[in-house]
Amino acid sequence: MTAAAAADRPEIPAARFGERLASASALAVDRGVDGVLVGVGADLRYLTGYRALPLERLTMLVVRPLGAPVLVAPRLEALPARSCPAAASGALEVMTWSETDDPIALVVRLVGGAHRLAVSDRLWAMFVLRLQTALSGVAFSLASPILQELRIVKDADEVALLRLAAGAADRAMEGILRGRLVGRTEADVSREIGERLVAEGHETVEFAIVGSGPNSASPHHDPGERVIRAGEPVLFDIGGTLAGYSSDITRMAWITGGNEQAGPDADYRRLYDVLQGAQAAAAAAARPGIAAERVDAIARERIAAAGHGDHFIHRIGHGIGLEGHEEPYLVAGNALPLREGMAFSVEPGIYLEGRYGARIEDIVVCGSDGPRVLNEVPRGLRLVGG
Ligand code: ZN
Ligand code: ZN
Ligand code: ZN
Repeated sequence: MTAAAAADRPEIPAARFGERLASASALAVDRGVDGVLVGVGADLRYLTGYRALPLERLTMLVVRPLGAPVLVAPRLEALPARSCPAAASGALEVMTWSETDDPIALVVRLVGGAHRLAVSDRLWAMFVLRLQTALSGVAFSLASPILQELRIVKDADEVALLRLAAGAADRAMEGILRGRLVGRTEADVSREIGERLVAEGHETVEFAIVGSGPNSASPHHDPGERVIRAGEPVLFDIGGTLAGYSSDITRMAWITGGNEQAGPDADYRRLYDVLQGAQAAAAAAARPGIAAERVDAIARERIAAAGHGDHFIHRIGHGIGLEGHEEPYLVAGNALPLREGMAFSVEPGIYLEGRYGARIEDIVVCGSDGPRVLNEVPRGLRLVGG
């Protein structure tokens, strides 16, 4: 990505973080919670824009319905803490603690009088247990009912960033599908995918799955030293983060090596057609009001009707945003109605253990009247000659 493209990159306006902090505080009141304690991670980034380091020294956002939000940070992190958008725009006070201070005591003072506190799901046990010891009369619960309620619906700026990440992953995928594959190891191709994701503007590469031949039947295959050959499928599932937002796309290639005899066999063609139809039908069904589990069922019914019900061994999708996997999960048992702005993967798969498999994955945003599919790489089985 060029410097000019990076400068044009959409971003979350600083004022948005103050609004999010106010919403979190209001929701806490709604849920009868006297304070929300947020450790380092995606919840903190969402509320403040602060990408804090995960340290053994405590960094904690304290959201208090009866007072202004405070970010507790180690003194040596004062500069990045005070520079985060929420603090820089005046929506957040930063209180630092020195090396020999007790940061837990500082948090305890900030939440004085609280009866019920919610802690972010990823807060480390070493902090939770110290808080519980120091606040023995307080009832602790998870903050996810509050924070997921906010994070599950993406605003237009977040959707723009997800779209940017998807476009970058699309270009990385196209580059791989157009390049040479036969004779290379999965690990080698996986490394190239990582380089391409970074070249397209990703700051992190979270996964670059390359599953060739029988390995394509293992959904989370760890790319290894197996050499890609003609006459077999290869599964590519790649993703990372761009400006903090996640990408995630899966496409399938069949390696012909330029030999017409090495094309996909009839079983694989059938399997792939069923899968592609199921993926398209499920993605097309995404609209406000439909239950999350229904999107899964639409694909599953088609796959089962083709005799592959036992070979679709995972849920159809997961939410995506600041984290690669987050709410909403599109899975049987989750009756949550989709809402405009929810973003998630639609990724059915059919896996014949020991033989081969296939998955097709797109990121979809629920629009006001239907799906907005962010990935644009064609979904047909790609025949790769080289
Ligand atoms: Zn997965
Ligand atoms: Zn994926
Ligand atoms: Zn996924």
